[in-house]
Amino acid sequence: MTAIIGLAKRAKRLLRTLLSRCTKVYLSPVRRIDRVKTRERVVAITFDDGPCAAACSPDTHGGRALTDVILDTLSEFSARGTFNVVGDTGENYPDSAGAVSTPYWSGTKFDHYPSFGDDANGGAKNQPRIIRRIIDEGHEISSHGYRHIIFGESNRVYSARKNLGSFDAAAEDLRRLHKLMAREYGYTLRLHRPPHYVDRIPDGTTSFDVLASLGYQYLGASYDGCDWLPQSAGYDAEVRHTRAGLDALLARNPDALCGQIIFSMDGFNMALRSPVADGLRGMLEALTAHGYRVVTLSELITLSPLSDLAPGEAGFDKLAWLLARGYTAAFRDNTARMQKPVTRGELIAMFAENAPARRVELIEKDKTARVLPDIPVTHPYSGAVIWAVELGIIPDSAPLGADKPATHALLCKLAANYGAQTAESSAALTRGAAIDTLYELAVAGKIPPALKTGE
Ligand SMILES: [Zn+2]
Repeated sequence: MTAIIGLAKRAKRLLRTLLSRCTKVYLSPVRRIDRVKTRERVVAITFDDGPCAAACSPDTHGGRALTDVILDTLSEFSARGTFNVVGDTGENYPDSAGAVSTPYWSGTKFDHYPSFGDDANGGAKNQPRIIRRIIDEGHEISSHGYRHIIFGESNRVYSARKNLGSFDAAAEDLRRLHKLMAREYGYTLRLHRPPHYVDRIPDGTTSFDVLASLGYQYLGASYDGCDWLPQSAGYDAEVRHTRAGLDALLARNPDALCGQIIFSMDGFNMALRSPVADGLRGMLEALTAHGYRVVTLSELITLSPLSDLAPGEAGFDKLAWLLARGYTAAFRDNTARMQKPVTRGELIAMFAENAPARRVELIEKDKTARVLPDIPVTHPYSGAVIWAVELGIIPDSAPLGADKPATHALLCKLAANYGAQTAESSAALTRGAAIDTLYELAVAGKIPPALKTGE
């Protein structure tokens, strides 16, 4: 069973890669960050589903809590982790336990962490000592949802799962954890990984809309530590497996992990074992032997926020400045695509005010409506387009042609709205020129960012 799931996940990843090559990409203030481009040997490790006050399984550490064992190990290597925590799964009842070694191991309708019937041993609400230790030792905490409920319907693997179903329910679940972390720990969350990476919400919105409303970035991962997947040979094989993959990769190319985000667990795998308790040491040995620093996600994206533009490359400084402040200047898949011609839809998206909230408002009112003949309200730029229509920057009844090349004349109109002038030109508008104008307006304090960060 677990081999089939492993195979299915690999096939899905391959399919996603192939699809992403021919799927349209959109600018977005929220980017799914799977990895970043850097020549430095620096990585981040994320630990999902904790905190976990339950003992390791098998108990190889004398009853010590699993999260404590992970923290002890990180500390030995001066490594910093990113703990992707839940609030409390104790509200996810009535439910029934699924069979071990299936995706329903932690519950049929919902997830329960660290395990079914043992929710009090997990969750930021229930484990203040562990949360404080994570913060005090310089690690990062990210949001994995208060109750770890998927946003919308999942694929066949989790088809029996209940989902949150609407933008409002998903935003409310995230806000609960955000408030808990602020109130109890004085900690501001900035990142979220949707449970089981389910993005589509039945009401027509997506996880990107929800994250935008909280000012979060989307925490992805690029390297699977594989400790969620049980090995039929048992615990020792699972522990060896977590290191073997890294060793093989680094032997082929010592720079292979530069800027990557490693996925790992702060909890049990489907066979109710926790190979991370002993596997993490091997991973950190392999990484440090090759000179890697293990940093928090926020440190990683401060160093280099994008996956296709490294520090020192043309356009990097201005883009990094804009992205750190929540402007819409890069694509949803965390690329800069500096060579891509700018489209009309993209240019309007860069300069629109309050576009994420406007989009959600439009969809919640009537998800079948249209903003313009060729722009349904579910279009990623609908919030930006309605802004431009209301201000008379574009006509209110003609098709927009969102994918057509943008002109300097449109840039002039957008900049003029903020009291700035740009030179007219008949030459094709480049990404660089559009970014320069946005940057100048932002530095001068004339245009507010699309995301409200740091609240
Ligand atoms: Zn999870």
